[in-house]
Amino acid sequence: MNTTTIPTTGTTDLGRDWRRHAACASGSVDPEIFYPLDLDPTGPSVTAARRVCAGCPVQLACLLDVMAGEDPARRWGITAGLTADERTHLYVTRRAVAAGPARPGAVAA
Ligand code: SF4
Repeated sequence: MNTTTIPTTGTTDLGRDWRRHAACASGSVDPEIFYPLDLDPTGPSVTAARRVCAGCPVQLACLLDVMAGEDPARRWGITAGLTADERTHLYVTRRAVAAGPARPGAVAA
């Protein structure tokens, strides 16, 4: 079962201010849960972080911000409910979609 949920709703019009509304910035969440040692995507550690993100009112803004600024070669931790591997998959998929369909007979440069 795939437990990855990519946020598609939520406010994105807070500019840089969105961080003030982040569930993980409330002071009631241990920041360490976003950097679990056990990276099993369905395990309890990742699930605990996903649960916080799922209830976060700025999850989409968080995802858009991290995808715009994160170094693809240096992803780590759980952000916007996604593991580093899941964000890499999203990044690669979006690039492929942006590039358009492969043309028969096309040769990579
Ligand atoms: S989606 Fe998760 S990581 Fe992003 S701001 Fe909200 S709680 Fe923090």
